Amino acid sequence: MTERYVAARRALIERLQDRGIRDLNLLRIFDLVPRHEFLPEAVRHRAYEDAAVPIGFGQTASQPSLQALYMQLLELEPHERVLEIGTGSGFQTAILAHLADRVYSVERVRELSVRARASLDRLRFSNVALLVGDGTIGWSRFAPYDAILVSAAAPDIPQPLISQLTAGGRMLVPVGTRESQRLMLVRRTPGGIEQEEVIDCTFVPLLGRFGWAEEVG
Ligand code: SAH
Repeated sequence: MTERYVAARRALIERLQDRGIRDLNLLRIFDLVPRHEFLPEAVRHRAYEDAAVPIGFGQTASQPSLQALYMQLLELEPHERVLEIGTGSGFQTAILAHLADRVYSVERVRELSVRARASLDRLRFSNVALLVGDGTIGWSRFAPYDAILVSAAAPDIPQPLISQLTAGGRMLVPVGTRESQRLMLVRRTPGGIEQEEVIDCTFVPLLGRFGWAEEVG
């Protein structure tokens, strides 16, 4: 780890604790994964701020405390398989790779996926599969998934993703308008689909067949 980031990262871990993240394993993993390695050079100095950071193509790497909350809510077990929609920088993908057995992540912007792959390879992650495409239809090839995490805002819960959950599977997805959303925790139970609103949030739009229409320029 680059020495100059050590103190900043420590401060971020303290900030996560202040924001209610108590799970020691999760805090250890945030301490382990170098967020700066996933960010473009120009914004690396902001890697350990608890803030969303621009990564190009109009996209942002999500705020770490929100990502930690996501992880806490998903309650991943080490043997589980996870689908992530919106690879973005790949930082959250790396956190998931520490918590779960295998991670499958779909990103619609090819350049971001290529960059994320390079970062994950450099850090020697070997349990992550990336796909370039429309994540609103999920990734049927490796379904079903124990958990699905959607990192972009949807107008409704994308139906294909529900059908790619295992029995007992959990999904987190921000649902609302393009401007503001509610983070929804969806569970597939023997009795049907359960939904719970968690918090208000603001994500970049999920563009695709079961998301928002892509702007026609
Ligand atoms: N967790 C990521 C968040 C990236 S922002 C990080 O911390 O870096 C959300 C990402 O979702 C963007 O990269 C955007 O390109 C992507 N996205 C939007 N719609 C998508 C879709 N239909 N399928 C896959 N990715 C999508």
